[in-house]
Amino acid sequence: MAENLDPLRGRVAWVTGAASGIGRAIAYKLAEQGARVGVIDLAEEAALHVAEKLGGSAIACDVSDAGAVRSATRDLEQRVGPPDILVNAAGIAHGEAVAGHDERSWRRVLDINLTGPFHFTREILSGMMERGFGRIVNISSGSGVRVGAGAAAYGTSKGGLIAFTRGVANEAAAAGVTANAVAPGLVDTPMTRQAMGDAEQLASAARSSDIGNPMGIVLQPEDIAHAVAFLCHPDSRGITGQVLHVNGGSLMP
Ligand code: NAP
Repeated sequence: MAENLDPLRGRVAWVTGAASGIGRAIAYKLAEQGARVGVIDLAEEAALHVAEKLGGSAIACDVSDAGAVRSATRDLEQRVGPPDILVNAAGIAHGEAVAGHDERSWRRVLDINLTGPFHFTREILSGMMERGFGRIVNISSGSGVRVGAGAAAYGTSKGGLIAFTRGVANEAAAAGVTANAVAPGLVDTPMTRQAMGDAEQLASAARSSDIGNPMGIVLQPEDIAHAVAFLCHPDSRGITGQVLHVNGGSLMP
């Protein structure tokens, strides 16, 4: 039997953080598989550009702001329809030691990386459950499982996101809605370039650092998008509450 090349035709996917890096690759991948995509990001112009390229609709929204998420939800429901798929990819990186950690930066990391996914999920979950189909994918991190020095805030946000994912998975399971996390390793995106330097520095970190991996590879955003698309596939209905690590083997929990 021929493989269905657009398994998401007729589906609506909302992707946060979709103007850049991993979120953008996910938005392209889901559109390529037939989904109509809502592109959600702080970066308005870049979001518009992505939406234009994939024939979707863009909305500027700070995921940490509950009111902004509520009004973005109403707006996107009108423009692309209520979501069958929600991917929470918006996030920020932050490195700071616990001793003397600034209160505001601690809260900011948690507000964006953990409370942001809560805000969007809260808005759309009951609709998904009523319609009897849903795929929620939260972009966590290997740092949510193995937390290095200086990564307590980031690691807490990403570990909390795994716990949140499992709570949602249990609440929604009987209604045909799955919730899973994808935990990337080292991926070449503007976030990592800013934190770690150019392609050569990333490649060197992948070969020989505590965040390196036995394959010695720097992952690309498309590697993560592939895993997300797998979880969003209608045939993945039996996979819920799981963490899919995409990391070249750096972590084998
Ligand atoms: P990225 O290129 O910086 O993309 C993140 C996007 O999220 C940006 O467009 C950013 O907009 C947006 N964003 C930030 N704060 C936001 C907010 N409050 N509301 C709405 N949008 C917001 O980073 P990335 O590397 O693709 O990261 C995507 C996700 O993967 C993040 O959750 C990150 O923690 C996770 N992750 C990344 C790696 C990696 O190696 N890259 C590894 C593990 C996990 P602005 O540019 O305007 O800030």
